[in-house]
Amino acid sequence: MSQPDRRRITVLGSTGSIGRNTMDVVKQLGGRDAFEVEALTGHGNLDLLARQAIECGARLAVTADPARYTDLKERLAATGIDVAAGPSGLIEAAGRDTGWVMAAIVGNAGLPPALVAAERGADIALANKECLVSAGRLFLAAVGRGGGRLIPVDSEHSAIFQVLDRDQRHALERIVLTASGGPFRTWSREEMAGVTAATARVHPNWSMGVKISIDSASMFNKAREMIEARHLFDVHPDEIEVVVHPQSIIHSMVGYCDGSVIAQMGAPDMRGAIAYALSYPRRASIDIERLDFARLARLDFEAPDEVRFPALRLARVAMQRGGLQAAVMSAAQEQALDAFIDDRIGFLDMAEIVESVMDAMGGIGEAADMEDVFAADEEARHRAAKIVAERQKAA
Ligand code: NAD
Ligand code: MG
Repeated sequence: MSQPDRRRITVLGSTGSIGRNTMDVVKQLGGRDAFEVEALTGHGNLDLLARQAIECGARLAVTADPARYTDLKERLAATGIDVAAGPSGLIEAAGRDTGWVMAAIVGNAGLPPALVAAERGADIALANKECLVSAGRLFLAAVGRGGGRLIPVDSEHSAIFQVLDRDQRHALERIVLTASGGPFRTWSREEMAGVTAATARVHPNWSMGVKISIDSASMFNKAREMIEARHLFDVHPDEIEVVVHPQSIIHSMVGYCDGSVIAQMGAPDMRGAIAYALSYPRRASIDIERLDFARLARLDFEAPDEVRFPALRLARVAMQRGGLQAAVMSAAQEQALDAFIDDRIGFLDMAEIVESVMDAMGGIGEAADMEDVFAADEEARHRAAKIVAERQKAA
């Protein structure tokens, strides 16, 4: 039965790494006594999706894979839970009336449903990066029209969101994004040339999905985060700094005009940022590791090396060129990443391919609508795929 004091929420991408952590936080903060889960979405892992939906009493469960509709329907037979599938199912999940939506679908597939949720005025807890990287202005405009809040979940942006003094916006001097440096922080380019996806996906501090883990190793994850920060906090590219901080204890910092720097710290556990996004503007008590400073003993910092990690330089190029360059960078990179995961190209090929595609599409302008975003995305992927094929032939 519906209890009016329960908060109605939806989790897009509930079966992923962020999604599972979100379901854990929901449980920790009261589960069915505190939350009415309207909709959950997943893709291939129907076992988990069905289990989650039954456990939290969701009204709708959606698989993004249209071919799995019957499979999911059978698993949820006689539960009373509605079932939908495919892109239209994702849109239905996002469109249902809830005050809060976790946007944790990976990649471009997460864009249309997040836009629908933003447009109807839900508060958006944003984990998906493409919403801002590929469609920054359009997505922010949709949030503006809807009137909901946009609460970042990416740990760096959650950190900045937590320490940014909105009344002193004029006093902000810089945003310092911390980067763990990934598994190849100290490796030479020669050493990196030979790595495989199996090595690259092991992150030293965070437990995450495969793609974002490899993107941390190449620092394309940080490249996307620079662009996310630019949109979220409306800062100039020159006000965005990256510092390598191997322990991942400081999640990011804001520097002010009086020299003061305010950092947000915590254990490297995404449930902290998720709980913040779910409770904002309040804080809620959750059971995650507390920092023990005496045991930590030290925090290290070093300048990022843009020669070994060209992704950071490419993010600056994308911001400088403006328009859809960031969407081009992101799409070409995803295509190259898939090829690297399939062992079709090497680790260092990824950045080279991205740079070639960015240069070839260097003059691309601003997006008027989502069609422009998807067209730029498609062209960038197509070009990247072509270069992948050429390199394979040459190898
Ligand atoms: P993941 O791969 O573990 O999970 C992704 C989710 O999206 C799953 O529920 C999956 O079923 C769903 N999905 C996959 N392909 C889909 C498709 N084509 N259509 C619809 N749904 C699909 O990824 P993750 O690590 O949970 O990351 C989710 C998003 O959050 C990504 O954009 C990532 O960059 C971002 N993010 C993740 C972390 C982290 O710690 N994992 C941190 C910061 C930001
Ligand atoms: Mg991050």
